[in-house]
Amino acid sequence: MRSDQFKSLLAGLTRLTVRQLDELRKAVEAQHQRTQALRALEAAGEGLGCPHCSSFKFTKNGHSRGLQRYLCTACSRTFNAATNTPLSRLRGKERFFQHGECLAQGLSIRAAAAEMGVAVSTAFRMRHRFLQEVVSHQPRHVAGLLEADETYVRESQKGSRHLTRPARHRGGTAVKAKGLPRDLIPVLVGRLRGQPHVVDQVLTSMNILQATEALRGAVGPDTLLCTDGSGAMRGAAKALGVTSKSIAVSYGGRVVEGVYHVQTVNSYHERLQSWLSRGLRGVATKYLPNYLAWMRVSEWYRGDLKPEHFVISGLGRQLINT
Ligand SMILES: [Zn+2]
Repeated sequence: MRSDQFKSLLAGLTRLTVRQLDELRKAVEAQHQRTQALRALEAAGEGLGCPHCSSFKFTKNGHSRGLQRYLCTACSRTFNAATNTPLSRLRGKERFFQHGECLAQGLSIRAAAAEMGVAVSTAFRMRHRFLQEVVSHQPRHVAGLLEADETYVRESQKGSRHLTRPARHRGGTAVKAKGLPRDLIPVLVGRLRGQPHVVDQVLTSMNILQATEALRGAVGPDTLLCTDGSGAMRGAAKALGVTSKSIAVSYGGRVVEGVYHVQTVNSYHERLQSWLSRGLRGVATKYLPNYLAWMRVSEWYRGDLKPEHFVISGLGRQLINT
Protein backbone atom coordinates (compact mmCIF):
# COMPACT_ATOMS: atom_id res chain seq x y z
CA MET A 1 0.00 0.00 0.00
CA ARG A 2 1.22 3.48 -0.84
CA SER A 3 2.05 5.67 2.14
CA ASP A 4 -0.65 8.26 1.32
CA GLN A 5 -3.25 5.48 1.17
CA PHE A 6 -2.00 4.17 4.48
CA LYS A 7 -2.26 7.63 6.03
CA SER A 8 -5.86 8.00 4.99
CA LEU A 9 -6.58 4.50 6.28
CA LEU A 10 -5.26 5.49 9.69
CA ALA A 11 -7.16 8.80 9.57
CA GLY A 12 -10.38 6.85 8.93
CA LEU A 13 -10.01 4.93 12.20
CA THR A 14 -11.55 7.74 14.24
CA ARG A 15 -14.80 7.35 12.30
CA LEU A 16 -15.26 3.66 13.21
CA THR A 17 -17.94 2.53 15.61
CA VAL A 18 -16.95 0.43 18.61
CA ARG A 19 -18.18 -2.69 16.88
CA GLN A 20 -16.29 -1.94 13.68
CA LEU A 21 -13.17 -1.22 15.66
CA ASP A 22 -13.47 -4.56 17.38
CA GLU A 23 -13.93 -6.32 14.05
CA LEU A 24 -10.93 -4.53 12.62
CA ARG A 25 -8.79 -5.49 15.61
CA LYS A 26 -9.63 -9.16 15.07
CA ALA A 27 -8.87 -8.95 11.36
CA VAL A 28 -5.53 -7.26 12.05
CA GLU A 29 -4.65 -9.91 14.60
CA ALA A 30 -5.49 -12.76 12.21
CA GLN A 31 -3.47 -11.16 9.43
CA HIS A 32 -0.59 -10.59 11.82
CA GLN A 33 -0.63 -14.27 12.84
CA ARG A 34 -0.57 -15.33 9.24
CA THR A 35 2.34 -13.09 8.33
CA GLN A 36 4.35 -14.19 11.35
CA ALA A 37 3.73 -17.84 10.55
CA LEU A 38 4.87 -17.50 6.99
CA ARG A 39 7.86 -15.38 7.99
CA ALA A 40 8.96 -18.00 10.51
CA LEU A 41 8.63 -20.66 7.83
CA GLU A 42 10.64 -18.66 5.31
CA ALA A 43 13.32 -17.84 7.87
CA ALA A 44 13.69 -21.54 8.67
CA GLY A 45 14.40 -22.31 5.03
CA GLU A 46 17.03 -19.60 4.62
CA GLY A 47 20.55 -20.78 3.99
CA LEU A 48 19.42 -24.24 2.93
CA GLY A 49 19.86 -25.63 -0.55
CA CYS A 50 17.29 -27.17 -2.86
CA PRO A 51 15.50 -29.91 -0.90
CA HIS A 52 15.52 -32.12 -4.01
CA CYS A 53 19.17 -31.93 -5.06
CA SER A 54 20.90 -29.71 -2.44
CA SER A 55 21.98 -27.21 -5.08
CA PHE A 56 22.24 -23.55 -4.10
CA LYS A 57 21.48 -22.37 -7.62
CA PHE A 58 17.85 -21.37 -7.50
CA THR A 59 15.75 -18.33 -8.26
CA LYS A 60 12.56 -16.88 -6.84
CA ASN A 61 9.59 -18.17 -8.75
CA GLY A 62 6.40 -16.54 -7.56
CA HIS A 63 4.40 -17.50 -4.51
CA SER A 64 2.16 -20.39 -3.67
CA ARG A 65 -0.21 -20.31 -0.71
CA GLY A 66 1.56 -17.27 0.67
CA LEU A 67 4.98 -18.90 0.65
CA GLN A 68 7.85 -17.84 -1.56
CA ARG A 69 8.39 -20.45 -4.27
CA TYR A 70 11.81 -21.17 -5.73
CA LEU A 71 12.90 -22.77 -8.97
CA CYS A 72 16.08 -24.82 -8.84
CA THR A 73 18.20 -24.27 -11.92
CA ALA A 74 20.11 -27.50 -11.31
CA CYS A 75 17.19 -29.91 -11.18
CA SER A 76 14.43 -27.69 -12.60
CA ARG A 77 12.07 -28.44 -9.74
CA THR A 78 10.23 -25.94 -7.57
CA PHE A 79 10.13 -25.87 -3.80
CA ASN A 80 9.30 -23.73 -0.78
CA ALA A 81 10.48 -23.64 2.83
CA ALA A 82 8.26 -26.56 3.84
CA THR A 83 9.05 -28.90 0.94
CA ASN A 84 10.25 -32.36 2.01
CA THR A 85 9.75 -31.66 5.70
CA PRO A 86 7.23 -33.29 8.04
CA LEU A 87 5.19 -30.11 7.71
CA SER A 88 4.98 -30.06 3.92
CA ARG A 89 1.71 -31.93 3.67
CA LEU A 90 -0.03 -30.14 6.50
CA ARG A 91 -2.68 -27.77 5.34
CA GLY A 92 -3.23 -24.33 6.81
CA LYS A 93 0.36 -23.13 6.94
CA GLU A 94 -0.90 -19.78 8.21
CA ARG A 95 -1.82 -21.68 11.39
CA PHE A 96 1.73 -22.86 11.96
CA PHE A 97 2.69 -19.90 14.07
CA GLN A 98 -0.48 -20.22 16.11
CA HIS A 99 0.25 -23.88 16.62
CA GLY A 100 3.79 -22.97 17.66
CA GLU A 101 2.23 -20.73 20.28
CA CYS A 102 0.11 -23.60 21.59
CA LEU A 103 3.24 -25.73 21.91
CA ALA A 104 5.13 -22.91 23.59
CA GLN A 105 2.32 -22.64 26.11
CA GLY A 106 2.30 -26.40 26.70
CA LEU A 107 -1.38 -26.70 25.84
CA SER A 108 -3.28 -29.99 25.73
CA ILE A 109 -4.67 -31.15 22.37
CA ARG A 110 -8.16 -30.02 23.27
CA ALA A 111 -7.01 -26.61 24.41
CA ALA A 112 -4.89 -26.22 21.27
CA ALA A 113 -7.80 -27.24 19.03
CA ALA A 114 -10.04 -24.67 20.72
CA GLU A 115 -7.36 -22.00 20.47
CA MET A 116 -6.89 -22.58 16.73
CA GLY A 117 -10.53 -23.22 15.99
CA VAL A 118 -9.83 -26.62 14.40
CA ALA A 119 -10.98 -30.19 15.05
CA VAL A 120 -9.21 -32.13 17.78
CA SER A 121 -8.00 -34.60 15.12
CA THR A 122 -6.43 -31.76 13.14
CA ALA A 123 -4.67 -30.39 16.21
CA PHE A 124 -3.47 -33.90 17.00
CA ARG A 125 -2.04 -34.45 13.52
CA MET A 126 -0.34 -31.06 13.58
CA ARG A 127 1.20 -31.62 16.99
CA HIS A 128 2.83 -34.88 16.09
CA ARG A 129 4.06 -33.65 12.70
CA PHE A 130 5.67 -30.72 14.50
CA LEU A 131 7.39 -32.96 17.01
CA GLN A 132 8.42 -36.03 15.03
CA GLU A 133 11.74 -34.61 13.80
CA VAL A 134 12.62 -33.16 17.18
CA VAL A 135 12.81 -36.65 18.73
CA SER A 136 16.25 -37.05 17.13
CA HIS A 137 17.51 -33.62 18.21
CA GLN A 138 19.66 -35.11 20.94
CA PRO A 139 23.00 -33.84 22.24
CA ARG A 140 26.30 -35.16 20.90
CA HIS A 141 29.39 -35.76 23.02
CA VAL A 142 28.65 -33.27 25.76
CA ALA A 143 31.43 -31.82 27.87
CA GLY A 144 30.78 -31.61 31.58
CA LEU A 145 28.80 -33.31 34.27
CA LEU A 146 25.96 -35.36 32.82
CA GLU A 147 23.44 -36.46 35.40
CA ALA A 148 21.61 -39.55 34.20
CA ASP A 149 18.72 -41.25 35.90
CA GLU A 150 15.51 -42.97 34.96
CA THR A 151 11.96 -42.01 35.69
CA TYR A 152 8.80 -44.04 35.11
CA VAL A 153 5.69 -43.09 33.21
CA ARG A 154 2.53 -45.11 33.48
CA GLU A 155 1.72 -46.93 30.27
CA SER A 156 -1.27 -45.48 28.49
CA GLN A 157 -3.17 -46.43 25.38
CA LYS A 158 -4.94 -43.10 25.45
CA GLY A 159 -6.46 -42.36 22.08
CA SER A 160 -6.00 -45.92 20.84
CA ARG A 161 -8.97 -47.54 19.16
CA HIS A 162 -7.71 -50.98 19.94
CA LEU A 163 -7.37 -51.30 23.64
CA THR A 164 -5.73 -54.53 24.65
CA ARG A 165 -7.23 -54.28 28.10
CA PRO A 166 -10.35 -52.72 29.56
CA ALA A 167 -10.32 -48.94 29.77
CA ARG A 168 -9.22 -47.59 33.08
CA HIS A 169 -9.76 -44.32 34.79
CA ARG A 170 -6.67 -42.25 34.24
CA GLY A 171 -4.66 -40.60 36.89
CA GLY A 172 -2.09 -43.09 38.03
CA THR A 173 1.07 -41.53 39.30
CA ALA A 174 4.43 -42.81 38.34
CA VAL A 175 6.64 -43.90 41.13
CA LYS A 176 10.17 -45.06 41.43
CA ALA A 177 10.16 -48.32 43.23
CA LYS A 178 11.65 -51.74 43.30
CA GLY A 179 9.47 -54.54 41.97
CA LEU A 180 7.83 -52.35 39.39
CA PRO A 181 4.31 -52.96 38.17
CA ARG A 182 4.48 -54.07 34.56
CA ASP A 183 2.76 -51.01 33.18
CA LEU A 184 5.43 -48.50 34.12
CA ILE A 185 7.56 -47.38 31.20
CA PRO A 186 11.16 -46.44 32.02
CA VAL A 187 12.44 -43.21 30.52
CA LEU A 188 16.14 -42.52 30.79
CA VAL A 189 17.04 -38.85 31.00
CA GLY A 190 20.48 -37.27 31.02
CA ARG A 191 20.73 -33.61 32.01
CA LEU A 192 23.96 -31.69 31.63
CA ARG A 193 24.72 -29.72 34.78
CA GLY A 194 24.63 -25.96 34.28
CA GLN A 195 23.65 -26.29 30.61
CA PRO A 196 20.26 -26.84 28.95
CA HIS A 197 21.33 -30.05 27.18
CA VAL A 198 19.02 -33.01 27.69
CA VAL A 199 19.24 -36.52 26.27
CA ASP A 200 16.26 -38.84 26.65
CA GLN A 201 15.09 -42.23 25.51
CA VAL A 202 12.01 -44.34 26.19
CA LEU A 203 13.16 -47.83 27.17
CA THR A 204 11.32 -51.11 27.35
CA SER A 205 13.42 -52.18 30.28
CA MET A 206 15.96 -50.44 32.48
CA ASN A 207 19.03 -52.57 31.90
CA ILE A 208 22.70 -52.11 30.99
CA LEU A 209 22.20 -52.63 27.27
CA GLN A 210 19.36 -50.15 26.87
CA ALA A 211 20.90 -47.55 29.17
CA THR A 212 24.14 -47.80 27.19
CA GLU A 213 22.43 -47.27 23.85
CA ALA A 214 20.35 -44.39 25.21
CA LEU A 215 23.47 -42.49 26.29
CA ARG A 216 25.91 -43.54 23.58
CA GLY A 217 25.57 -40.45 21.37
CA ALA A 218 25.52 -37.97 24.21
CA VAL A 219 28.67 -39.02 26.04
CA GLY A 220 32.17 -38.35 24.83
CA PRO A 221 35.72 -38.10 26.11
CA ASP A 222 34.85 -34.99 28.11
CA THR A 223 31.73 -36.34 29.79
CA LEU A 224 31.65 -37.13 33.45
CA LEU A 225 28.63 -39.31 34.11
CA CYS A 226 26.82 -38.87 37.38
CA THR A 227 24.35 -41.58 38.42
CA ASP A 228 22.58 -42.97 41.43
CA GLY A 229 24.82 -46.01 41.23
CA SER A 230 22.26 -48.56 40.08
CA GLY A 231 23.62 -51.70 38.46
CA ALA A 232 22.29 -50.70 35.05
CA MET A 233 23.92 -47.28 35.16
CA ARG A 234 27.23 -48.59 36.47
CA GLY A 235 27.23 -51.17 33.70
CA ALA A 236 26.37 -48.55 31.07
CA ALA A 237 29.18 -46.24 32.21
CA LYS A 238 31.60 -49.13 31.96
CA ALA A 239 30.34 -50.15 28.52
CA LEU A 240 30.62 -46.57 27.29
CA GLY A 241 34.08 -46.21 28.76
CA VAL A 242 33.29 -42.94 30.51
CA THR A 243 34.34 -41.75 33.91
CA SER A 244 31.42 -42.03 36.26
CA LYS A 245 30.60 -41.05 39.77
CA SER A 246 27.72 -42.48 41.67
CA ILE A 247 26.03 -41.61 44.87
CA ALA A 248 23.63 -43.33 47.15
CA VAL A 249 20.32 -41.62 46.76
CA SER A 250 17.67 -41.72 49.38
CA TYR A 251 14.44 -40.47 47.91
CA GLY A 252 12.47 -38.29 50.20
CA GLY A 253 15.61 -37.49 52.10
CA ARG A 254 18.39 -35.45 50.61
CA VAL A 255 21.62 -37.21 50.12
CA VAL A 256 24.13 -35.03 48.40
CA GLU A 257 27.76 -35.96 48.24
CA GLY A 258 29.61 -32.89 47.08
CA VAL A 259 28.95 -32.14 43.42
CA TYR A 260 28.15 -35.75 42.58
CA HIS A 261 24.39 -35.84 42.76
CA VAL A 262 21.47 -36.32 40.40
CA GLN A 263 19.28 -33.55 41.73
CA THR A 264 19.27 -31.55 38.52
CA VAL A 265 17.97 -34.46 36.47
CA ASN A 266 15.54 -35.44 39.21
CA SER A 267 14.06 -31.97 39.26
CA TYR A 268 13.71 -32.25 35.46
CA HIS A 269 11.85 -35.53 36.04
CA GLU A 270 9.50 -33.77 38.42
CA ARG A 271 8.68 -31.00 35.97
CA LEU A 272 8.19 -33.56 33.20
CA GLN A 273 5.91 -35.73 35.32
CA SER A 274 3.81 -32.85 36.54
CA TRP A 275 3.35 -31.47 33.01
CA LEU A 276 2.44 -34.90 31.61
CA SER A 277 -0.04 -35.75 34.30
CA ARG A 278 -1.50 -32.41 35.33
CA GLY A 279 -0.89 -30.22 32.28
CA LEU A 280 -1.72 -32.78 29.61
CA ARG A 281 -3.65 -35.27 31.74
CA GLY A 282 -1.61 -38.21 30.61
CA VAL A 283 -0.25 -39.03 27.17
CA ALA A 284 -0.30 -42.14 24.99
CA THR A 285 2.85 -44.20 25.44
CA LYS A 286 3.19 -44.47 21.68
CA TYR A 287 3.77 -40.71 21.48
CA LEU A 288 5.91 -40.39 24.60
CA PRO A 289 9.11 -39.70 22.57
CA ASN A 290 7.36 -36.71 20.96
CA TYR A 291 6.40 -35.31 24.35
CA LEU A 292 9.93 -35.77 25.61
CA ALA A 293 11.12 -33.83 22.56
CA TRP A 294 8.62 -31.07 23.32
CA MET A 295 9.89 -30.89 26.90
CA ARG A 296 13.48 -30.75 25.63
CA VAL A 297 12.73 -27.72 23.45
CA SER A 298 10.95 -26.02 26.36
CA GLU A 299 13.90 -26.71 28.62
CA TRP A 300 16.41 -25.41 26.10
CA TYR A 301 14.61 -22.09 25.75
CA ARG A 302 13.34 -21.91 29.30
CA GLY A 303 12.10 -18.39 29.96
CA ASP A 304 12.48 -17.41 26.32
CA LEU A 305 10.41 -20.01 24.50
CA LYS A 306 8.94 -18.69 21.25
CA PRO A 307 6.44 -20.14 18.76
CA GLU A 308 9.02 -20.07 15.97
CA HIS A 309 11.28 -22.43 17.91
CA PHE A 310 8.67 -25.12 17.32
CA VAL A 311 8.00 -24.12 13.72
CA ILE A 312 11.69 -24.22 12.81
CA SER A 313 12.34 -27.44 14.75
CA GLY A 314 9.28 -28.97 13.13
CA LEU A 315 10.81 -28.29 9.73
CA GLY A 316 13.66 -30.52 10.81
CA ARG A 317 16.31 -27.96 11.78
CA GLN A 318 18.06 -28.81 15.02
CA LEU A 319 18.00 -25.77 17.26
CA ILE A 320 18.47 -27.49 20.57
CA ASN A 321 21.25 -29.62 22.06
CA THR A 322 23.79 -27.98 19.80
ZN1 LIG B 1 17.35 -28.91 -7.19
